[in-house]
Amino acid sequence: MSIAPLTQPKPAKTLRLLLGDQLNPRHSWWNEPQDDVLTVMMECRQETDYARHHVQKVLAYFLAMRSFARERIEEGHHLHYLTIDNPDATRPMMDVLRDLVGESGATDVRVQAPDEWRLDALFREAMNTWPDELGVSFSMDDTEHFLTSRTDLATHFEGKKQYLMESFYRMMRKRHDVLLDASGQPEGGKWNYDANNRKKLPKGHVPPAPYLWGRDVTILHAELINAGVETVGQVQPERFGWPVTREESLALLNIFVEELLPRFGDFQDALTEDSWTLYHSRLSFAMNVKMLNPKEVIAAVEQKWREDPTHASIEQAEGFIRQILGWREYMRGVYWAHMPEYAGLNFFQHDRKLPSWFWTGKTGMRCLQHAIGQTLEHAYAHHIQRLMVTGNFALLAGIDPTEVDEWYLGVYIDAIEWVEITNTRGMSQFADGGIVGTKPYVSSANYMHKMGPHCNSCKYKRQAKTEDDACPFNSLYWHFHARNRDLLERNPRIGMVYRTWDKMPPTKQQALLDRGDAVLANLEHL
Ligand SMILES: Cc1cc2nc3c(=O)[nH]c(=O)nc-3n(C[C@H](O)[C@H](O)[C@H](O)COP(=O)(O)OP(=O)(O)OC[C@H]3O[C@@H](n4cnc5c(N)ncnc54)[C@H](O)[C@@H]3O)c2cc1C
Ligand code: SF4
Repeated sequence: MSIAPLTQPKPAKTLRLLLGDQLNPRHSWWNEPQDDVLTVMMECRQETDYARHHVQKVLAYFLAMRSFARERIEEGHHLHYLTIDNPDATRPMMDVLRDLVGESGATDVRVQAPDEWRLDALFREAMNTWPDELGVSFSMDDTEHFLTSRTDLATHFEGKKQYLMESFYRMMRKRHDVLLDASGQPEGGKWNYDANNRKKLPKGHVPPAPYLWGRDVTILHAELINAGVETVGQVQPERFGWPVTREESLALLNIFVEELLPRFGDFQDALTEDSWTLYHSRLSFAMNVKMLNPKEVIAAVEQKWREDPTHASIEQAEGFIRQILGWREYMRGVYWAHMPEYAGLNFFQHDRKLPSWFWTGKTGMRCLQHAIGQTLEHAYAHHIQRLMVTGNFALLAGIDPTEVDEWYLGVYIDAIEWVEITNTRGMSQFADGGIVGTKPYVSSANYMHKMGPHCNSCKYKRQAKTEDDACPFNSLYWHFHARNRDLLERNPRIGMVYRTWDKMPPTKQQALLDRGDAVLANLEHL
């Protein structure tokens, strides 16, 4: 997909830089074309190389950026777009922008507030230095995307060590009047239906196939390879499936509401080998690059429920809306309340290397083989796969959270640091010591067996605990709790685990610890 026609750099009073995750055509920047405003968009190595990204992620970004640029040019906006084969693509983004300020003669530089701390720091530096150095003003506009400001969550939890998502979520429901009855109470009588939403997929039940676009991206794929961008994962370049325009994103939203919402909540935690999407929406990429606004996604689901509660029950509608109105905004608030320190938190001081099979899927542990294999094939895994399969294993095995973050930041189509690190380092690895979660999300093989079929075809035995072929999760679960007793014992939500441990005969405890040690010594070859 080529980007012609491109407008060229031209004299302009205002130079605007638009990032690849700021593709909101309804932003006030695009209200009407202005002759003295030039917007710059860049495909650059600074952004392709800060993590080893999945090939579908890089393609999705560039496709979405190019489509967005073309649409704005067609509307009459002046836009200068630098493709990855441009010599400037290897230079730091701010250096290129600085040169463009000189070339265009602009006196005013504007950006939209970035979602990542590293870019925010770059922009703030320019804000402080460019007025003197270059004689230009440098200012930051809101992205007009989120339902909260960067600081709303910190204000809501002022003075608290732990941030209870449920309390934030209820505040958001009230503030935005979502799923409330006329008296301001939660529709259906409950704020949260999570307990109803944990079903296993019934035998023989196959969810609908995901809607995929089947776009031919062979030319862009070749451009990436020629430019030397290193990626991970697989792609079928002649059949690219992700939505990359607002129109396609709206179509995916509609498919979700009409076809998937009725069962979203029921099976949102299920594990299966028959579908890589279950009833999940796959809207995270479209929302994270701002082609879709969270408000319109929430409104579409609430409206459908109000119009036809027999199509989607309150359990399904609330379960979905909570993810966006609650979790998504909450994670963003945690990010801005705790960065940059958050990126270095390591509550358990975990320091093991991530096994290399996380990058290939070549392990005998069927649940991990499946979740990682699917991730490499589609750049996607649903929440429970991320949390209770890969994340669970990394935490029990004591992997350095920085290595875990690098993996999650690279492999998922929707991974951007603000929502990746809070979910990974926080929710999944408990490396923040409990800012996000009230306790570590860990389990033995019991959970995996309860939620899906993986254990049935695994080389390890899910019921065995200490034997050579025992499921590694079983001994690691106890090993993790035993080695971290000082840090966890006082947590009231974990007391039961230690009571069970203390009731075990010492020989059994020792056998579990020995098996755990053996698993940890052999992580690379599981
Ligand atoms: C270890 C780990 C890492 C994660 N990394 C990311 C990430 O990099 N980017 C990302 O967008 N999400 C991340 N998540 C959250 C969640 O797994 C994904 O948002 C979801 O799987 C995306 O698929 P979907 O659009 O089909 O989601 P659905 O299940 O259909 O949910 C709908 C929407 O709710 C939002 N949502 C759901 N759960 C969360 C959550 N915990 N935090 C924030 N938003 C949420 C997403 O926008 C999602 O699109 C992570 C979760 C874990 C446990
Ligand atoms: S037996 Fe253990 S490793 Fe195998 S699939 Fe089940 S939980 Fe995973």
